[in-house]
Amino acid sequence: MIHADEFFFNIEKNNPAFDLDLFKLAYEFAERAHRGQKRQSGEDYIHHPLAVANKLASMHLDQETIIAGLLHDIPEDTPIPIEAIQKEFGAEIATLVGGITKLGKLKYRGIDRYAENLRKMFVAMADDIRVIFIKFADRIDNLRTLWALPPEKQRRIAQESIDIYAQIAHRLGMRELRIEMEDLAFAYLDPTAYAATKKLFESRVPQSSRNIEVAIRELKTKLEEQHISYERVYGRVKHLYALHNKLKLYNGDINRIFDLIALRVITRDVGDCYRVLGLIHSLWKPISGRIKDYIASPKPNGYQSIHTTVFLQNGFPLECQIRTMDMHHLAEFGVAAHFAYKTPESKDGAHISKIQVEWIERLKNWQQEIQDNKSFLNEINFDIFKERIFVFTPRGDAIDLPENATPVDFAYHIHTDIGNSCVGAYINQELKSLDTPLRSGDMVEIITDKNKKVPSEDWLTFAKTHMARQHVKQALNKQRSSFLRRFLPKSLK
Ligand code: MN
Repeated sequence: MIHADEFFFNIEKNNPAFDLDLFKLAYEFAERAHRGQKRQSGEDYIHHPLAVANKLASMHLDQETIIAGLLHDIPEDTPIPIEAIQKEFGAEIATLVGGITKLGKLKYRGIDRYAENLRKMFVAMADDIRVIFIKFADRIDNLRTLWALPPEKQRRIAQESIDIYAQIAHRLGMRELRIEMEDLAFAYLDPTAYAATKKLFESRVPQSSRNIEVAIRELKTKLEEQHISYERVYGRVKHLYALHNKLKLYNGDINRIFDLIALRVITRDVGDCYRVLGLIHSLWKPISGRIKDYIASPKPNGYQSIHTTVFLQNGFPLECQIRTMDMHHLAEFGVAAHFAYKTPESKDGAHISKIQVEWIERLKNWQQEIQDNKSFLNEINFDIFKERIFVFTPRGDAIDLPENATPVDFAYHIHTDIGNSCVGAYINQELKSLDTPLRSGDMVEIITDKNKKVPSEDWLTFAKTHMARQHVKQALNKQRSSFLRRFLPKSLK
């Protein structure tokens, strides 16, 4: 559990350029808003937003994102509206908090709704990808305190974390968050497998650690001899969920897993990566076919490193990963690395939007990949980034409509009677006319008049969906024919 003073201290230490007074103001604002509220775990509620903000700070994110993390549950869980946040902290922070509130209204209904949930995440992300970072930090703290919830809820949240959140984190290259979510969730999702994997892992740690310590010492000596400077040489431990999955692939044979603990070298520049590779191969015999140069050809999520597996003198196989500091930061934080406050470009809006476009492009490729692989998602048409929009009902269901669709299209999509009797709509809680074009992410609530049974003819000038237009025409025809019937002579009826 983190305390406010500790949080302020970290902020001040790690980024003196931040406006500490603003952080204190945001903290007090959140503390006052949540005062009296308790979490399921019994602690004061404020510890949750504080943990979220602290996580975002540890990812070196910008001031606005961290403050939005402090405020993220206020509109949803307290009587204080988003307008108050906007007034106090400005539009940028209010938009981030609004994005989280919107995501919070979404419900996960199991793997069969997987694609739909992914699309919802994209909708939110298309606005501002930082919303996703806050959502991840939020989820990690919720997973940490999952023990306090009933088993049913534990399983649902754990499943959702692995199916959706970890997948998206992976595709955004956010390894650190992904492995954290996976291991936290794994423990609840399959406690037996978790315990077995942990036991197996621990049985191997002493031997692996001994070998890796010797290897690190040898390599460091060699690096100094050759005058190659480096940032770090250390052992990285495989996380349990990845180990569990890899064991399934190898029929549970842990002897076939070479990277339980891998040797990692962080270099000063790209040239040194190849020099270190040469050095490693001169020290130990490489296993052929296991040298992978992800620097020359990065993975689809942008990951860069050189991997090689070698046999140590005693025959112990060891995977080595070589990368620069920049590559390392990108490998751990992915897209979030571009938003880090340490990079000078992070202040440049054009740069940021270019980065966002690139990542969204990658996600699109991922969708393409999923379709090409004819996996269980292949029947889903992912066309979210063009021609389609996704809007939400007040209950948080996503409705898929064509571009420029209106509240009339939305109303008929819900139910014919709602379409026929609609008189107006709230879009994001604001009263709007029925011909207002909807945009992705809008929350739409239809106002109906139970005495009104017939649509207006002019709806045909702006309704976009075939379904809405058909219903309007049908209802109008029906009205006309009943009108005619009333006045026609009996003989013609
Ligand atoms: Mn929260």
